[in-house]
Amino acid sequence: EKKKNKKPDWLRVKLPVGKEYANVRKIVDENKLHTICESGNCPNMGECWGAGTATFMILGNVCTRSCSFCAVATGRPPEYDEQEPQRVAEAIKKMGVKHAVLTSVNRDELKDRGAEIWYQTVVKTKELSPETTIETLIPDVKGKWDALYRMIEAGQEVVSHNIETVPSLYRRVRPQAKYQRSLDQIKLTKEYGKRTKTGIMVGLGETQDEMFATMDDLVAHGCDILTVGQYLQPTKRHHDVIEYVHPEVFDMYREEGLKRGLKYVESGPLVRSSYHAERHVNVPI
Ligand code: SF4
Ligand code: SF4
Repeated sequence: EKKKNKKPDWLRVKLPVGKEYANVRKIVDENKLHTICESGNCPNMGECWGAGTATFMILGNVCTRSCSFCAVATGRPPEYDEQEPQRVAEAIKKMGVKHAVLTSVNRDELKDRGAEIWYQTVVKTKELSPETTIETLIPDVKGKWDALYRMIEAGQEVVSHNIETVPSLYRRVRPQAKYQRSLDQIKLTKEYGKRTKTGIMVGLGETQDEMFATMDDLVAHGCDILTVGQYLQPTKRHHDVIEYVHPEVFDMYREEGLKRGLKYVESGPLVRSSYHAERHVNVPI
């Protein structure tokens, strides 16, 4: 059988080893926390955990949605854990990171979309680690804007919401989401006064022209920072990798993004929304 689309060399990564890595492992386990690094099979775990940092995923590890690229389990989540914000804050303090990234599953079944747990997690983290800056990678609140405002009023420095792909692929890639609704969420976040950020995965079948049009939409809706990275298939049941995008194309996307008015673009095969996130707190916008 012909091996189609073999992973190219530029996607090779370092193996997870070392003292810092073991320390992050211990803190995550002791505080019974979930990370998107593990749930998303992130290829950068060696680098990020080796540098003492991880991205916590709050509101449990079962998602109400079923995006075809995502390795997180879909289902009806159990009751959320009211102690989770405290444990996240304690873990971040123990890790002693200068910048923390938080994300969550979607909790469409909750009236507040999980906004109160989001709020508490950021507030408690700031209480225990006042010097630590925070990025919150928040879910689609399905147009429930009071939930959005609760999520973003907790004092975090960066608010990201991933557009993930171009609109023509939404039905197959993000079936429960709407492209325009995610753009609107970014726009309202910017109007609220927050530093805004989004992420796109490439290699899902998008064209370059569609990428440019999406960049224009993002700029028109007040997005400051964009990350672009290669989609990797978590299991055979997930969306196929249509293309391994060449590193030179990633460079071109960075230049195009900046030309089109984004303030900062992080673009490369291994880029994830939380990759190099500490840079995004201070880049001029
Ligand atoms: Fe975790 Fe993000 Fe680093 Fe991946 S890039 S290991 S998800 S912090
Ligand atoms: Fe994964 Fe987020 Fe989609 Fe849930 S909403 S399936 S966590 S990408």
